[in-house]
Amino acid sequence: MALTAITLTQILVKINQDATRILIMTKKKLQISIDELRGVGIKNYNLLAQLGIETIEDLLFYFPFRWDDFSNIQLIKNLKPETKATIQGKIFNICNIRSPYRKMVITKAIISDESGSIETVWYNQPYLKQTLKKAIEYRFQGKPKIIKNKLIFQAPSFEPILENNQNNQPLIPVYSVTRGITPKMIRFILKQALQYLPYLDDFLPDWILKKANLLSLDQAITKIHFPKNKLEISQAKKRLAFNELFIFHLNYELKKNLWQKNQARKISKKIPIIKKFLKSLNFKLTNDQKIALWEILSDLDKQNPMNRLLEGDVGSGKTIVAMLACVNVALNNTQAALMVPSEILASQHYQTLIKLVTNYSIAVGLLTNSQSWVNFKITKTGKLKILQNPTKIKKERLIALIKKGNVKVMIGTHSIIQQKINFKNLSLAIIDEQHRFGVEQRSQIINNFCKNKQEKIPHLLSMTATPIPRSLALTLFGDLSLSIIKQLPRGRKKIITKVVTQEKRSQAYAFIKDQINQGRQAFVICPLIEESTVLETKAAEHEYQKLSKQIFPDIEIGLLHGRLKPREKQTVMKGFLNNKIAILVATSVIEVGVDVPNATIMVIEGAERFGLAQLHQFRGRVGRGAYQSFCLLFTDSNSIKTWKRLKYLEASESGFELAQKDLRLRGPGEFLGQRQSGFSNFTIATLDNLELIKTSKQLAEQLTLKDPNLIKNPKLLYKVQKFNKVHFE
Ligand code: ADP
Ligand code: MG
Repeated sequence: MALTAITLTQILVKINQDATRILIMTKKKLQISIDELRGVGIKNYNLLAQLGIETIEDLLFYFPFRWDDFSNIQLIKNLKPETKATIQGKIFNICNIRSPYRKMVITKAIISDESGSIETVWYNQPYLKQTLKKAIEYRFQGKPKIIKNKLIFQAPSFEPILENNQNNQPLIPVYSVTRGITPKMIRFILKQALQYLPYLDDFLPDWILKKANLLSLDQAITKIHFPKNKLEISQAKKRLAFNELFIFHLNYELKKNLWQKNQARKISKKIPIIKKFLKSLNFKLTNDQKIALWEILSDLDKQNPMNRLLEGDVGSGKTIVAMLACVNVALNNTQAALMVPSEILASQHYQTLIKLVTNYSIAVGLLTNSQSWVNFKITKTGKLKILQNPTKIKKERLIALIKKGNVKVMIGTHSIIQQKINFKNLSLAIIDEQHRFGVEQRSQIINNFCKNKQEKIPHLLSMTATPIPRSLALTLFGDLSLSIIKQLPRGRKKIITKVVTQEKRSQAYAFIKDQINQGRQAFVICPLIEESTVLETKAAEHEYQKLSKQIFPDIEIGLLHGRLKPREKQTVMKGFLNNKIAILVATSVIEVGVDVPNATIMVIEGAERFGLAQLHQFRGRVGRGAYQSFCLLFTDSNSIKTWKRLKYLEASESGFELAQKDLRLRGPGEFLGQRQSGFSNFTIATLDNLELIKTSKQLAEQLTLKDPNLIKNPKLLYKVQKFNKVHFE
């Protein structure tokens, strides 16, 4: 987790100014504007600027996203529909036609080689009529399609064959471009930009290049743009990915060092009272819960701030551990805050906590967008009185009570980190379901909690139900301590899980109906549509219509999706909690962590779109009461692979086991989601290269051991600062 309580600027001040000046001078040549290059006039300059390319340096670091292999040439007569191929031939009969119904210009041509010819079309590129010369041979690459019974080459990319046939690159880099700029144009100006490479200063020390077996930066840049073969591409990618990973880890290391220099309040363990609390619960903590609580309380009892991740399967009982930590903080007469990703979860946690502390004088507040509650009042004489029933309070008043330090434990959503909220003595900040907040957001949250710039900063605890295997977690979130709750509380019934194929659907619906007639309830999760919440909402509405009109016309059904207003969500959720609604249709953004003990069925539509760990989390929404619960994984996919993957859920009930499987089957990138891991802004590095992630981390550690503030490596410090600007400010 990234922490910016103290900014890196403070280190930079320590840097020898000469070093900074040298750095600026060597960079100067690369800062030359691209309009110095041939082919870049005002028009192209503006277009390239839209792509973020304004200087030579920008251009050199504008990497291709793909390389087309033009080396394997096929004869036109052997082309097959829907199969990508490269052909070599000449152009005939090229002409532009205006398509009547879609305001589109279609460029048509015939390409011929010695074996035959094929009709070819391009869309909205009328200039091709001039660009493509009849006298020269080209290589074309694309996918032939059958249109109106004819095989047609659709929008192939192309490369001219030059006279001597020497400078024809077999691997052609493809860049993402904007209208008016072609990849070819980028290649043309890049060739000129290469002459500036000698001014490029490698920011990695030699010993690191050697240890990680990396190309120098100028070699990597040359090869990524103009590779001779696939090996060169992978070598170049390795070096460039390393750059990103190394800076990423370096950033963590520096921040970890800084974080540990901060002072936090020492919160003493109030063991006897905590024990009394434990006795008052109607269950016993599991061993893992006890260990996690002990680890947290021990961290709190130190002057350097805790930064801990509490991982535990859904239903493993993280909440009670967090709450006891809050109680301990309150007993020390300082404040704790618990932030959660949704209103519903906030009120649920609030209810749990005020019940827990009824017999103690601990003042608790709840603040969300639409709600502000407290469990106490301040009498006329200024005394604190705990109320039997919580009461609504004006937001401004609650904010004032937080500032005065009257409220000891604050629970809420994003509302509790607003600019105007100032804690008097915040000692512990907890983020529940932290995987729901992206990395960038997380560091923002932490900064906001630390915004008081008091001399002391809060201890931090993040909680997640994504069971990230320890090794991966330590690699990615290297600055965190880790507590893991592996075992579930005893007596939990196994949730019966079934993969339901299309043929078995009606049977499944009958089963659901039967359960509901017995008084139980069901969740129906709609397929994940990652690209857009709008589409996801539509899918949910569609599902809702289908179920309420066709499948279960006599059953009360509710709909919950991310685009509802908080109040509407609350009404639906309340209806479900009171069993006024028997089936709750929800999108994948359904409030995690919600506890509805009477719900015994979890249906997941389009189950194949979710990862195993995620499906397991949905499954954790049921099985919370006394009744036998079921999880039905609906899928219309015919793929055996998918079916096998889903079958794992029938067999395993351990989130950690499933996470390991998921990780193996889909790789860390998909497993974690690039966003959640903080990898979203990387251009080349991916989570899938675990080896490189590990190496870069080890080397970042070694470097900061030798040079803790990067005073001897100003170039690297500059890079880390830039990284922070992009990612966290
Ligand atoms: P999660 O880890 O997913 O946040 P919760 O903290 O919401 O899980 O716990 C799920 C349920 O289990 C809650 O109703 C809680 O009261 C209950 N619970 C927690 N710890 C135990 C335990 N040791 N024994 C039995 N039930 C427990
Ligand atoms: Mg929870």
